[in-house]
Amino acid sequence: MALRKKPFEVPLSEPLISGNEWRYVKDCLDTGWVSSVGAYVSRFEEMVAYNAGTRYAVATSNGTSALHISLVVCGIGPEDEVIVPGITFIAPVNAVRYCGASPVFIDCDKDTLCIDTGKIAAFLENECERSADGCIYNKRTGKRVKAIVPVHVFGHPADMDPLLELARNHNMAVIEDATESLGSEYKGRKAGSFGTVGCFSFNGNKIVTAGGGGAVVTGDRELSLRIRHLITQAKRDQLEYDHDAVGYNYRQTNINAAIGVAQLERLEEFIAIKRENAKMYKELLSGIEQVSFDTEKPWARSNCWFYTIRVGAGHRLPLMRHLLSEGVQVRPVWKPMYKLPIYTRFQAYGTENGTEAYESCLNLPCGVGLKKWEIRYVVTRIADYFKGSEKKAAAPER
Ligand SMILES: *Cc1c(COP(=O)(O)O)cnc(C)c1O
Repeated sequence: MALRKKPFEVPLSEPLISGNEWRYVKDCLDTGWVSSVGAYVSRFEEMVAYNAGTRYAVATSNGTSALHISLVVCGIGPEDEVIVPGITFIAPVNAVRYCGASPVFIDCDKDTLCIDTGKIAAFLENECERSADGCIYNKRTGKRVKAIVPVHVFGHPADMDPLLELARNHNMAVIEDATESLGSEYKGRKAGSFGTVGCFSFNGNKIVTAGGGGAVVTGDRELSLRIRHLITQAKRDQLEYDHDAVGYNYRQTNINAAIGVAQLERLEEFIAIKRENAKMYKELLSGIEQVSFDTEKPWARSNCWFYTIRVGAGHRLPLMRHLLSEGVQVRPVWKPMYKLPIYTRFQAYGTENGTEAYESCLNLPCGVGLKKWEIRYVVTRIADYFKGSEKKAAAPER
């Protein structure tokens, strides 16, 4: 039974459900272990920890709750500021606000679209001052800059070494938003393993899905126990309803974890496919002069979750419209956070690369199930656009 009609000839990113998902979900239903406790949750956590190269993992209801609880256990509160990328999906910024803290937006790197560590350094140097306690305070607001949340954008890792050094020198926590980068590596080490904590998402469009879900990973046992406690309503006693904090219900369910386990079994295979498809796109697109395809830094091994192309400013929207009308599902890069009315009142340090990326980049279809002919189709439709674009540009405005 088809549950829904494909709206696009070539969809952006659909999950590939062809492993043990049915079997494991059936197992949950047959045994009655459907909710927030069960063997698949534990197995899911082991597999996430393994793939992040960390000792501990705690499954959560989604990536956003993973980020929120991470900020909570790092002690982020209303008197604090948190460094976040100007170019990101909104979830980590919202999580900062859930804690009552203020985001400070830092520009992205031109090539990777990840937070520019040079600009973090410049912000700390020019806008902040260190106090005797070894912490660093924003001179404008008097607030402590307490944490950095790097996002590994579209799977490509941020430049972590200089970022970690800044965090160490100024007593800042690092909450790694690795939600897009499961299995990616920075200098041979797994994304998610660098920060005080790392966060993952298993939403339907991520490289592997649990239907919905998330995880926090860390090397710190105490921290992992604290997270587990807080996401279980901070219930202290096995028997009595005795709670010692304002907790959350942020747990993963066994059914979702069952899907996640089946998907995680295939992570390496999925990454290999994504990387191969990236190579094919890059080769085919190299024939179109107006398009460049983002690639990885020598120190990075991206899981190639999403593919990004850059086109000259002015082409982004008409090209997107052309591709959508041809059945190719593409999407824009996120609008910079500092341009959203809810966030314009917060400080943005450097916006030129982020704004340029927003105006010139778009994401191409990237599902694991993408066929070779589909990649050729997408590239051919892009080529059509540029063949006709001179004519279009010359046409009078209506
Ligand atoms: C997907 C995503 C999240 C949130 O994950 P959910 O599971 O959808 O809550 C957070 N940050 C980034 C950068 C993401 O891409």
